[in-house]
Amino acid sequence: MAIKRILIANRGEIALRVHRAAQEMGIETVAVHSTADADAMHVRLADHSVCIGPPSATDSYLNIAAIISAAEISGADAIHPGYGFLSENARFAEIVEAHDIAWIGPKPEHIRTMGDKVEAKRTAGALGLPLVPGSDGAVESAEEALKLAEEIGYPVLVKAASGGGGRGMKVVKNAEELPSQMSAARSEAKSAFGDDTVYIEKYLGNPRHIEFQVFGDGNGNAIHLGERDCSLQRRHQKVLEEAPSPVISAEERERMGEICSKAMADMGYRGAGTIEFLWENGEFYFIEMNTRLQVEHPVTEAITGLDLVREQIRIAEGKPLSVAQEDLRFTGHAIECRINAEDPFTFAPSPGEVTSYHAAGGMHVRVDSGIYASYRIPPYYDSMIAKLIVYGRTREGCIMRLRRALEEMVIEGVKTSIPLHEELVRQEDFLSGDYSIKWLEEWLAQRDV
Ligand code: ADP
Repeated sequence: MAIKRILIANRGEIALRVHRAAQEMGIETVAVHSTADADAMHVRLADHSVCIGPPSATDSYLNIAAIISAAEISGADAIHPGYGFLSENARFAEIVEAHDIAWIGPKPEHIRTMGDKVEAKRTAGALGLPLVPGSDGAVESAEEALKLAEEIGYPVLVKAASGGGGRGMKVVKNAEELPSQMSAARSEAKSAFGDDTVYIEKYLGNPRHIEFQVFGDGNGNAIHLGERDCSLQRRHQKVLEEAPSPVISAEERERMGEICSKAMADMGYRGAGTIEFLWENGEFYFIEMNTRLQVEHPVTEAITGLDLVREQIRIAEGKPLSVAQEDLRFTGHAIECRINAEDPFTFAPSPGEVTSYHAAGGMHVRVDSGIYASYRIPPYYDSMIAKLIVYGRTREGCIMRLRRALEEMVIEGVKTSIPLHEELVRQEDFLSGDYSIKWLEEWLAQRDV
């Protein structure tokens, strides 16, 4: 089936990203937008646009009925959900398919499985992915938890099965704390996700976050596109990502990549996915799988030369993967900086009018953004307004180019995280690649002094 018109159920830079891939394939696009986004770039560039509701995301970008109506009215034959919003909503995927609209995403049952962390962990284990030592499924009682924690060894982590964004997660240092921390995690999970199921795993002290990009055709064929290192995080939010990871050898990449692609092939996985691991002392531990395109996908595009959105669209059309594993080459190094409209060091949001804007350019510099001079950044949505992606033949060359590009970027009228990145890319530990998921917060804390 050839897709002719894609409705993009998202906003901002990712809506533009999907629009661009579609246009290059000769496919028309339909933008949807809230009343707050009438002047947004994704609306301006799309072939068609439909207003789907008021500013609040619940009433617009998360409004399934409005989005399906927009697809019907505009004659869209496919929907791309981007990331966030409805991208990992299995029910939405089912509704899209029930309307005979192509869903540019994984099979709904796989979205559902991976959306439940207990189910995801069980599935990952059965598929041969290495797991963080922990409970086999949900933990019901404090007695059961105490017994398990004793076996695993403290510290342990109590995690919510429906968790996300680091909520419903508690580190427990000893047996005395366990019962109270477990009920705290339960009530936090109950109020945040309406589900108080929790499970337990070993708490890793100083890991890196390393994830593998995978693609499946839905018919038992799958490939991996190498890893991304996303260890530089603040409050579990990624700040800067790079590919390849500074600590993974080509042999290790091949070994783990193969485990991941085989798991996806066995599962019959369709479309793009990311398998996230914590990595400590040379060992990988599965934490979760994201059944969608990731914010940081461009670093993978830079080192493989593959357009991941184009690949997603081809798969939704029922085509085979465009490249075989043995033909994929990982070349050079890429780094992405997430640029948010916020104070670079207090992280307080800074929406408002962009009074002047100049994007960095030059060889191997890519800026994905929906902003322009005189654009008003609305206060209702995520604060990320741009991504700067830089490529170099070596990591050193990439960092030198990144410094140059950060210097060229001009965004005035609002505060942005550019000054944070400018400092970050000059830190000794960053230059040597010696950082864990704790590093950024520790650096920020001592920087304040
Ligand atoms: P969420 O969906 O809430 O983001 P994840 O399972 O992806 O939950 O974990 C989020 C973050 O929490 C990880 O990136 C890591 O920083 C930390 N984390 C998760 N599991 C562990 C663990 N077993 N040990 C140490 N840190 C962990």
